[in-house]
Amino acid sequence: MKTILPGQTIGIIGGGQLGRMMAIAAKEMGYKIAVLDPTKNSPTGQIADMEVVAPFHDLDAAKRLAETSDIITYEFENIDVGVLAWLEDHAYLPQGSELIRTTQDRAYEKEAIEKSNAKVVPYYLVNTLEDLTKATQIIGIPSVLKTRRGGYDGKGQVMIRDEADVKEAKTLLKYGPCILEKFLDFEQEISVVVNRSVAGETKAFPVAENIHVDHILMQSIVPARISENIKTQAESLAINLAESMQMVGTLGVEMFLTRDGDIFINELAPRPHNSGHYTMNGCNTSQFEQHIRAICNWPLGSTKLIDPIVMMNILGEHMEKTIEAIPQFDSCKLHLYGKDEVKHKRKMGHLNILGEDVESIIEKINTLTIWLP
Ligand code: ADP
Ligand code: MG
Repeated sequence: MKTILPGQTIGIIGGGQLGRMMAIAAKEMGYKIAVLDPTKNSPTGQIADMEVVAPFHDLDAAKRLAETSDIITYEFENIDVGVLAWLEDHAYLPQGSELIRTTQDRAYEKEAIEKSNAKVVPYYLVNTLEDLTKATQIIGIPSVLKTRRGGYDGKGQVMIRDEADVKEAKTLLKYGPCILEKFLDFEQEISVVVNRSVAGETKAFPVAENIHVDHILMQSIVPARISENIKTQAESLAINLAESMQMVGTLGVEMFLTRDGDIFINELAPRPHNSGHYTMNGCNTSQFEQHIRAICNWPLGSTKLIDPIVMMNILGEHMEKTIEAIPQFDSCKLHLYGKDEVKHKRKMGHLNILGEDVESIIEKINTLTIWLP
């Protein structure tokens, strides 16, 4: 178990906003940053001391990243496992490659969740058209067909309500093995970000209540409007998962809460999570600083919530109104990711809005008009 000290270099695979916010937290603590991304001047590249510009599957590029880095981490899950395995053997990758292997595939991920004694919604593996027919009989409808690998923001998913939807669902099979899940008529979506350090210390951040629009996270509300008992349960489920998987770093745990108070784990992210962005201004330690602490062998920081807070995502279509609203940002912290191209539905940044209680913050959001259609 190594301690990585300020002045040393952290290499990040992936140049997106999560890497950028990791890099900013690390630079505050005195680290240097190297990044591997196919695009020059990526959101992380703008912050980094060194950029390796190459595709993610390019082993030579990974070697170059390893040469300049004292430790390697990643900011997204769809990394080539071969490249990661090489880094595990030849560089210092305290998170290992197992966590990525598990969370890259919805089937392995569900096995790991069940192994930790948490619940997942009923599911059935679908490789062929015959499997799909059988799966809809066993799981029933409504249900959701998802590709096992590569999905995000609702991409790679088809909702099945009737026979016509089955036809559309069939086209998903072209993209590889799938999984059919029962559609859960949940009460709320909640999430917990948990960290586990190389020394085995675990800490969970307060539960976030999440609102999605068109399968994209739009809003995280903290404290979540759920009972204390459910909060405690959700946080221990996340900590159990981190311990059961023996993971190192950050795990975002998405959950469904039913009307009966049952919690099902929806999916896992082996990295800082969008629903944890509120921690940047809401908690004593941000999820990004905590990630750096966890991998560099520091004690984990306090995850205490300082004030009620609501995080709102800023997509491409919200950019203009966001800039117009800056004069009203007395209690808002704006985080923009430095993406050059403003695209519809593209995550450009987020706004953390603080206040006395979540009700008054939600009222404030309505006066900002950024998210009105
Ligand atoms: P991703 O976030 O990778 O696109 P998810 O599996 O988290 O994929 O699905 C995206 C969203 O779709 C969820 O946050 C939830 O709102 C909805 N959803 C996914 N699976 C189910 C399900 N089995 N029952 C009900 N809603 C679901
Ligand atoms: Mg999700």
